[in-house]
Amino acid sequence: MEAFQFFMPVKLYFGRDCIEKNKECFKSLGKKAMIFTGKHSARNNGSLMDVTKALDDMSISYLVFDEVEENPTLETIGRASERGIRENVDFVIGIGGGSPMDAAKSAACLMANADMDMDALYESKKLTHLPLVEVPTTAGTGSETTPYSILTLHEKKTKASTKQLVFAEMAFLDANYMMELSDVVTTNTAVDALSHLVEGYMAVKANFMSEKIAEAGFAAFKECLEAVRTKKYDIEVREKLLLSSTIGGMVISQSGTSLPHLMGYALTYNRNLPHGRANGLLMKAYLSLFKNEQSLKKINRFLDILGFASLDALGDYLDEVFGDKEVFTDQEIEKFTKLSVQNKLKLATFPEKVEEEDIRNIYIKSLK
Ligand code: NAP
Ligand code: ZN
Repeated sequence: MEAFQFFMPVKLYFGRDCIEKNKECFKSLGKKAMIFTGKHSARNNGSLMDVTKALDDMSISYLVFDEVEENPTLETIGRASERGIRENVDFVIGIGGGSPMDAAKSAACLMANADMDMDALYESKKLTHLPLVEVPTTAGTGSETTPYSILTLHEKKTKASTKQLVFAEMAFLDANYMMELSDVVTTNTAVDALSHLVEGYMAVKANFMSEKIAEAGFAAFKECLEAVRTKKYDIEVREKLLLSSTIGGMVISQSGTSLPHLMGYALTYNRNLPHGRANGLLMKAYLSLFKNEQSLKKINRFLDILGFASLDALGDYLDEVFGDKEVFTDQEIEKFTKLSVQNKLKLATFPEKVEEEDIRNIYIKSLK
């Protein structure tokens, strides 16, 4: 059997009202917290209130930074961190979708290194970070179990993961916060979770343990397929989506993501496609690129767990849940291709040889 490593140090509290039931655990993190949220949703879905009540009950003071935009920028995180440093906070809490959770990770790093320039996030020097708690309110990114923070870089005209790896100390997983999530965000985030399972399962760095965990994720996702198709979600389905997403995070924390994520960043940056939608549109053509027998067996194995008879059946399912596709010009596809092939590290996550022409073809097959 091949040797492997597996590291996932986040303590997970899963279940309804898990924050109220486990609020004592905030005490070990410090006396003052900085909470990161998006502009509205954390106030509306009860998550911010549950966190602030728990902090009040534990006599921990806090400030709220509620300006994290979708696909957060380095500039926003820099601004927030300056405030956190001024206010002397001890720990950080990210509440929301992947955007506030990722922003909280990078801010936790900058705040622990007050004299450091923001660009240090993209340098290889390993930085310390303030303790971090994550509360997901979408079921998709799995950011609560990954060490990645993906930021928008205007100077590079795309999005990229920072070089710093920041795992949370703990995460609270309560599907109650997701009950009012719109159909569109639910679909896009669910497909993001699926794409983490798929890309992580197929990536070069997949190992025995990450594959087994991914298989548990596929089994949980299978039970959500019909709800995602018909857009009818009850709390049980929301919990299974959340579980699939958290497992997806554990999987990519070992293996990283692969071509759909790399290629999807160009669609998000240039055409504003939501992250999960971008991955999902590219998924079938990416899976069609695999040629070696072992990979083809793996594809069949996960399709089988999901209950799809073929790759075409998965493609048809994604087409149905996404509805009408955006229109892209040949020039755009050329631009996205050139942008994507620059990222040699991500190209190397694909276990077979991949050429510029393959990347172009995935875009053409998926988008034209
Ligand atoms: P998001 O950008 O965090 O949020 C999308 C929208 O959903 C926002 O308008 C947000 O509103 C709203 N929203 C969030 N929770 C809600 C709720 N419970 N009810 C109603 N509305 C809610 O979306 P996301 O797809 O979760 O995250 C995408 C980001 O994560 C991207 O930047 C992507 O690159 C990153 N990502 C990170 C990882 C990782 O490993 N770290 C993995 C995959 C993706 P508000 O703005 O008002 O909150
Ligand atoms: Zn993703």
